[in-house]
Amino acid sequence: MKRVFKEKYEELVRRINKYFPDGGGYKILEKAFWFGYDSHNGQFRRSGAPYFEHCVEAANILAELQLDLKTIAACLLHDVVEDTGVSIEEVKEGFGEDIAMLVDGVTKITDLRFKDAEIKQAENFRKMLLSMARDIRVIMIKFADRLHNMRTLEHLPKRKQKWIARETLDVYAPLAHRFGIARLAWQLEDLALKFLDPDSYIFIDKMIEEKWSDKMEQIEKMKDPIRREMINLNIPCSIVARPKSYYSVYKKMTTENISPSEIHDLLALRIITDKKETCYAAVGVVHTLFIPVADRFTDYIATPKSNGYQSIHTTVIIPDGHMMEVHIRNKAMDLTAEMGIAAHWSYDTKYTEEDLDKQLDWFHQFIDMNIEDANPAEFMESFKFDLVQHEIFVFSPRGKLIKLPKDATPVDFAFDVHTEVGLHCIGAKVNSKVVPLNTTLQNGDEVQILTSSKPNPQESWLSFVITSKAISLIGKWLRDNRKKLYKEHGRKLLFIELSNNNIPEKELTDKLLKQRSGFSNLDALYTALVQHEVTPEEIAKRLFPSVYRKNKVSLFRRIPRIWKSESKEEPYLIIEGEMPKVIELSRCCRPIPGDKIFGYFDENKGVIVHRSRCKNIPGDSFNGKHNIKVDWAADLNNRVFATTIKVTGVDRKHLLRDIAIAISELDINVLVIHIEAKETVAICDITMEVKDLSQLDEVNRKISKIKGVQRVVR
Ligand code: MN
Repeated sequence: MKRVFKEKYEELVRRINKYFPDGGGYKILEKAFWFGYDSHNGQFRRSGAPYFEHCVEAANILAELQLDLKTIAACLLHDVVEDTGVSIEEVKEGFGEDIAMLVDGVTKITDLRFKDAEIKQAENFRKMLLSMARDIRVIMIKFADRLHNMRTLEHLPKRKQKWIARETLDVYAPLAHRFGIARLAWQLEDLALKFLDPDSYIFIDKMIEEKWSDKMEQIEKMKDPIRREMINLNIPCSIVARPKSYYSVYKKMTTENISPSEIHDLLALRIITDKKETCYAAVGVVHTLFIPVADRFTDYIATPKSNGYQSIHTTVIIPDGHMMEVHIRNKAMDLTAEMGIAAHWSYDTKYTEEDLDKQLDWFHQFIDMNIEDANPAEFMESFKFDLVQHEIFVFSPRGKLIKLPKDATPVDFAFDVHTEVGLHCIGAKVNSKVVPLNTTLQNGDEVQILTSSKPNPQESWLSFVITSKAISLIGKWLRDNRKKLYKEHGRKLLFIELSNNNIPEKELTDKLLKQRSGFSNLDALYTALVQHEVTPEEIAKRLFPSVYRKNKVSLFRRIPRIWKSESKEEPYLIIEGEMPKVIELSRCCRPIPGDKIFGYFDENKGVIVHRSRCKNIPGDSFNGKHNIKVDWAADLNNRVFATTIKVTGVDRKHLLRDIAIAISELDINVLVIHIEAKETVAICDITMEVKDLSQLDEVNRKISKIKGVQRVVR
């Protein structure tokens, strides 16, 4: 057995030698190797392999990522504390503070207090993140550990396979992406897919193989002319073809609903040059030799992704008529693209501590903000959320690159392009398909905004836009426009009142309004009218007092009951859902407590409460959008409500006086009395303030007894 591992040790050293030629530093590695070997001696994996093989394979993964010796040594020891009798103090004594810290960081808490498996998982995860904050190499060991476990997952029971694969896909792969270690992330995702959806995995595997052999010849034909031109320009470069990761194809098929035959970019050609400047020369070469596809050019060199990724992406038509994606970058960018933060330890790049800190900025911020979080499950959830990329890149139809926050919608896009585009937006196409405006945009989407000649912002947009620019511009437009609507509506109310009194519309001038209405600010007047703070009649009376004196006997002012959510008054209604800005008791049926009521929601007016049998309830009230459940509040504190009754009787002298006396005897305030006599019949409309239905019944009984009164109705 020992001989087998001796070979394994030599293989590991050979691998490290490739990037770290200093033989003198291997002492610690050798010591760790044999310490690990001894500690795990006699332990076996489920596959039957000696346990220590797992530690060596994980170390090999790190050697491929060109990590430093201490990390690799710690990796060889990563399971000794958890799975053997060795204590962390012993590791510290034998290998020093650094290695002990790394080993401790990946060692799980096996505290029995955490009975719940999920809490235990979350608590372990938090511990790992905290040690990562001290030394990011902890996560590199954890990645290597997880990758090897995924590679040998078939030996575990089915249920455990799924559970580990899910965790890999939810936490470790996104974490690897966030640190830019694409090479690891892809492997983790593909392996997770293999266990979570084996059928799809096999399907994609076959498809890629077929297309790969189809395309190989084409690719070879492409490489030659590119290479020739690059030599002519004296630019060193290497050209390789890479298949897309299985998981990225899977995502395209499932989330974007693209059929397999439509995925043309299963393969991408990668051109790696020596310097940043020569990347642009290479773009020139590619675009001269092949026809570029319009709008498919992205310059991530000028605008790097947040995880540091840099590359130029372009798509060209290849000789067989299909499209081919071409990625162009220099060596250092290529290393970063595949290794992300891992490139920091590589001897090929000249990364400084500062560069690393910059790349880890988001992570440290997260830890700082959440370290106090007592609930491990919440901590884990918010970390999962934070892992997700915070920005997306989308394109205009002309290929302009636009950076938006994640979850942005076409409306956010429209306002980002131009305020006018946002205001006139009526629809959107994403990748040539018409989509709802609340669609969440994805990385790489091509977004086209459909506009109309008239501005069209909707209140509902505010529920899904996420950029502050869109939110503030929509809000401002709605506020300004509401003024315009109020003006139209308010003037209309006045016109109706005037025409009822045979006053021609042309008499209503702004000058007159300003002088006599009592409002020098006309916007305020219209708002007051629309919100029923004043009645059109009141204003009309102020404007044309002489006409009104002649026409009508109107004894009292009419006051409708309006309750606004800003007001300090207790609400007198209970409403299902959120309290709207304005609730108003309808003036047509004037409900009072005791009445069955019905709330009708109108976007402009708020909630209007009718009696449930009122014939003026609009026809579309069965539409759930308008139908609001309301009820009277339990405690109304002797509050009074305006309601109107119609009294019919034989006209006689003092009828009106007798009615008024009867009501006032009940200590009820009368707001308005209108009396009309037609021949011998008197019809009297009385608006008064009552507490509730039973008080109104009392009024009715009393009036009914008055001589000459024939009928009292509401
Ligand atoms: Mn392990």
